[in-house]
Amino acid sequence: MWKNTYGKTGQAISVIGFGAMRFARPRDLDGSAEVVRHAHARGINYFDTAPFYCDDLSEEICGLALATLPRESFYISTKCSEADGGKLRASLERSLARLRVSCIDFFHIWCLLRPGDLPQRIAGGALAAAQRAREEGLIRHLVVSTHLNGDDIAAVLASGCFEGVTLGYNVLNSPFRAKALEAARRYEVGVVTMNPLGGGLIPRNAARLAFLMGPRDRSVVQAAIRFNVSQAAVTAALVGFANTAEVDEAIAAVEDFTPYPPEHIERVQAQLAAGFDGFCTGCGYCLPCPANLEIPKWMDVYNQQILEGGDEAMRNRLKWHWNLAPDLAASCLQCGDCESACTQHLPIRERLAAIAALAGR
Ligand code: SF4
Ligand code: SF4
Repeated sequence: MWKNTYGKTGQAISVIGFGAMRFARPRDLDGSAEVVRHAHARGINYFDTAPFYCDDLSEEICGLALATLPRESFYISTKCSEADGGKLRASLERSLARLRVSCIDFFHIWCLLRPGDLPQRIAGGALAAAQRAREEGLIRHLVVSTHLNGDDIAAVLASGCFEGVTLGYNVLNSPFRAKALEAARRYEVGVVTMNPLGGGLIPRNAARLAFLMGPRDRSVVQAAIRFNVSQAAVTAALVGFANTAEVDEAIAAVEDFTPYPPEHIERVQAQLAAGFDGFCTGCGYCLPCPANLEIPKWMDVYNQQILEGGDEAMRNRLKWHWNLAPDLAASCLQCGDCESACTQHLPIRERLAAIAALAGR
């Protein structure tokens, strides 16, 4: 398995990381632990878990599996979203016990969704508590996970608080996060990407997305994973595994891996822009909005409608990815400035109205 060095930490991470949030039968602790051990045997050494994943059993499963393996042969990553320092400390201690380790290799300040979230974690004492735990040796590397857009992630990294970042990145949302990857290279921090398959969107639309494939790719899944790990800033891509077959499929995607040449990446991005009529590319030229709407996020929600059809795809994106309430889209002032600036000439107001209408259905 190809390994990359995580930022300036010196840790060599397998280019595919184990996302421990999708076990098929988490209540079967031994069977689930077997999936983890299988991945380790196949060369994966980065295991990403968190409290609450899989009915709150994921940390326990990882602890059960990894306890039988040499400690220096794996890295464990977990998270905490508490703003209060005391609560973060309690959560960290619970994670250490469940994972059966004396130190978390990569501990995340978890899920910054809005620009005000980091100041809130600082004010509540969470960041200071995590830094103290690092001094005590309970945390090896302090990192952050986020769904902010590129500019806001760049600002988080500029704070100098974190040795790396975990962020949602895939070929379809790559324009939204380009600035984050540039910033990660600038500050020399590690980057672990979540959701390289767009939460299943990419395999579900395999025929439409066949142009993602390079000459040596056997499937769109393989192409999507390779696209992620071909980015120079990306240390590893997390794939959520339900069973050993999925582990083997992801590992096959990076067998004989060589990064895509820049021409391939440019061709894919051009085809995405050209082939998806009405697709928001996340360029951000429509900003700022006088109603403070983060228009690229809302248009990303509408992208799901184009790809998948139906309200449910938009609802899921709103709720699980951006944590936005649909009725907020109704705060548009109808000034039209965004539509004049939009590089894709999208009917932004009409799309916002379609999203706002979800609130009443
Ligand atoms: S039309 Fe609405 S969304 Fe567009 S800039 Fe004006 S207020 Fe913002
Ligand atoms: S300018 Fe258009 S394409 Fe670019 S982010 Fe805004 S809505 Fe999307």
